[in-house]
Order: sequence, then C-alpha cells, then structure tokens
Amino acid sequence: MFDYLIVGAGFAGSVLAERLATQQNKKVLIVDTRNHIGGNAYDHYNEDGILVHKYGPHIFHTNSRDVFEYLSLFTEWRRYEHRVLASVDGQLVPIPINLDTINKLYGLKLTAFEVEEFLASLAETKDYIRTSEDVVVSKVGRELYEKFFRNYTRKQWGVDPSELDKSVTARVPTRTNRDDRYFTDTYQAMPLHGYTRMFEQMLAHPNIKIMLNTDYREIQDVIPYKEMIYTGPVDGFFDYCYGKLPYRSLEFKHETLNEEVHQPQAVINYPNEHLYTRVTEFKYLTGQEHLKTSIVYEYPQAEGDPYYPVPRPENAELYKQYKALADAEPGVHFVGRLATYKYYNMDQVVAQALALHAQLSNRSSWHPREESLPAKQPVVPMSNGNGNGNGSFKAVSSNGSSRSATPVAAGKTETNGKSR
Ligand SMILES: Cc1cc2nc3c(=O)[nH]c(=O)nc-3n(C[C@H](O)[C@H](O)[C@H](O)COP(=O)(O)OP(=O)(O)OC[C@H]3O[C@@H](n4cnc5c(N)ncnc54)[C@H](O)[C@@H]3O)c2cc1C
Repeated sequence: MFDYLIVGAGFAGSVLAERLATQQNKKVLIVDTRNHIGGNAYDHYNEDGILVHKYGPHIFHTNSRDVFEYLSLFTEWRRYEHRVLASVDGQLVPIPINLDTINKLYGLKLTAFEVEEFLASLAETKDYIRTSEDVVVSKVGRELYEKFFRNYTRKQWGVDPSELDKSVTARVPTRTNRDDRYFTDTYQAMPLHGYTRMFEQMLAHPNIKIMLNTDYREIQDVIPYKEMIYTGPVDGFFDYCYGKLPYRSLEFKHETLNEEVHQPQAVINYPNEHLYTRVTEFKYLTGQEHLKTSIVYEYPQAEGDPYYPVPRPENAELYKQYKALADAEPGVHFVGRLATYKYYNMDQVVAQALALHAQLSNRSSWHPREESLPAKQPVVPMSNGNGNGNGSFKAVSSNGSSRSATPVAAGKTETNGKSR
C-alpha cells in the first residue's frame, strides 16, 4: 500500500515525493503520462549531444533563499544571468527597454536622467488602466508599444492587447540605466548538469517508485494508496464537467546548426516579423561547449499542450467553480500550475509544494535549517550525452567568446537586484 499516489513528475510532484519520502518516511508512487520525469522543465541531450530544453527555455531565478537552498540539495549551479534582445526596426536592442535601447533605436545619446524625461514625454495619460494596452501605453507611449509589445502580445495570446486584462502585462519594466539583465532576482543560476539530472537526484530514494507512460486513471483503481497529490489539469480531474479551462499553447521547433554560435544573445525576441515569437540558443543557458549549436523557435498556438492559462475574468470564474470541487474532494491535494490554473514560475511551484508538505506534516512552514536534510548529493562527472563523460561546460559570453563556468554555492548571491 502506498501512502501517496502523486500524479505528475514535474516540480510540484517531485518536490512532494522527495519531502514525503525523506522527511515522513512515506511510501510514494509517482506517475506521469510522459516518458520522462521533470515535467515541462525536462532537458535532455539531443542526437548531436547538445543539452536542450524540450519544452522551451527554462531559466531559474528566485528571491527565495529557502527555495534556492532546498534545490541546492540536489544540484550544483552555474552562474547565469539571462539577457534578451529584441529585433526592432532592423536592429537588435536590449529588452526590457533600458537606456541603451532608447539611444540605439532613436540614434540618441541621452543620459539616465534625460531618458526618464524622454519616456515621460512619450507616455499617454490614462484615467483608468483596464487592459494590457493601457498598461504599456501609459508607461512608454504608443510608438514603443507598437514596436515592442503590440504584435508580440497578439502572437503570444492570439488577441490584441486592448482585449487582454491588464494583469498580462502588469509588469513592464523600463530602466533608465544600462542594466540589461532580464531578471533582477537575488538568485539566478542554472542547474550545473541540467534539470533532469537534478530531478533524478530528488527522486532517487527507496521509498519512491516512478511509473512513466501512465495516466493515473489507468492505475488508481488497481494500485492501493491512501491519499493523492494531483498536479495535472484540474478541469480534467473533474471530467471537464463545467467545460474546458482555456490555455494558450506553443509549438517548439528545435534545430541543430553546423556553427559554434548562432546569435549574439541567449534569446532574440521577434515582436513584428515571423510567426514565431522568439529564438533561444541553448548553449548560452547551459554553458556547454560544442562545435555545433542548438536553437528552438516558439510558435504560439491555440491548440496543443496546456502552457499558459488565459487570464480573462470569465476563465477565473470558471476556475473558481473547479476550485470549489477541488476543495471538497476528500483525500486529494491539488498543487502546481495545472491543478491551480495559474502561470507559476518554477520557484513558485517549489514554494507551493514545500508549503503543502509543511501542511501535510503539520508544520507551520518549511525551513532548511530546522530539519534534518539528506546529505548533499555527490557531484557526478559531467557528461556530454555521448556516454564518454568528458563533455565540458563553459559559459559563453555575449560576444561568443568563452570563460569557465563557476558553480554558484547555495546561499551565495552574485547580484543584489530586486525582483520585478
Ligand atoms: C514555454 C515555457 C517556458 C517557461 N520558462 C520558465 C522559466 O524560464 N523560468 C521559470 O521559473 N518557469 C518557466 N516556466 C514555468 C515552468 O514550466 C513551471 O513553473 C513548472 O513546469 C511547473 O511545474 P508543475 O509540476 O506544476 O507542472 P508540470 O511541469 O507541467 O508537471 C505536471 C506533470 O503532470 C503530468 N500529468 C498531467 N496529467 C496527468 C495524468 N492524467 N496522469 C499522469 N500524469 C499527468 C504532466 O505530463 C506533467 O509532466 C515556463 C513554462 C513554459 C510553458
């Protein structure tokens, strides 16, 4: 008899499996319909031996020391600060918009003080901010809205920003300095050997059994368990009785190119040209050295795997109905992005799972220094995926040159940035 049946081997399911097995000595069965662990954060070596993220680029960043310390039990890190360029008016310029973006775009030489005035002169006064368009136009004006945001949002969401709730672009950071980092969180790093290796370390415990290629419905009546932790789609759990919760999906087109470096930054956004929204070059993220390089194009679409909950009031209402059912369902705990119909970053899902574990074990909260932790996992020699174990990982700088990657130790931070 299993104590828990956990549906889904992504961050939500894996954190709970690990905590319940190692801290509560519970017997756990974790099932996933996919043929791998890691959920959407799954990465793997492609046939050329390049480490790629199957479901699009996943950059780890958090302001939570607890979350960072917790994950550090299962991985070492490499320093990585994410940077993105946008292709606008035939130029590649930093996004979020900063001093360099404005100067490059308009051929100016403004100072930080002057650019603030410049942006203020472009901004349109709005009495009431209701839509995503209002958010952006009131901050940077219509011209920059058209260049950077309007078409990107239309591609991403399939609707004009004037029809989208303000929450979608509630965060439009503009900077008057030259900081070109995409995130400003305290902890920004990538698992040194990838996400899947980290998940393997989390789930390597005799109390945890993993069943892949399996829908929980196939086994829930034949394998005895006491309680369920459900991280799949909440509407699916209740047989879509109130209708389907809408999601936006993506098609990922992966390509390996016969060149060492393809583009000048990890991600290039294409707000206006092409059907895809962005192109990611994985070697920037992983620091891997390889004679070839792998990229992924993202094409937003209506149908397909559920990725982004569509933030419209009617969908929030529909979710409320499912949440009422979920709250009343005995012996089942709903956790993670699909089960709570919310776009969460990885760190938020880890925090949510740790909070549920604290609740299940009658603890007020999780804190790394308050409980016995498993010994830090040994570092396994790096592999290039070709089985010879001698692949090397280095950070690639924005001009294409290389420098050695420095693993980041838990609790140490390389920036003092604030979150957005
Ligand atoms: C394109 C994209 C890019 C992203 N980039 C970032 C990023 O850069 N940084 C960041 O912090 N976050 C990012 N995220 C968010 C990140 O993917 C999520 O926070 C994280 O994956 C959520 O983990 P989860 O366990 O809740 O869900 P998932 O990872 O989706 O795991 C749920 C699992 O449940 C399984 N499942 C579903 N139904 C069943 C069933 N009936 N039976 C058995 N198994 C089932 C699924 O197969 C899946 O593996 C990104 C998301 C997307 C879509």
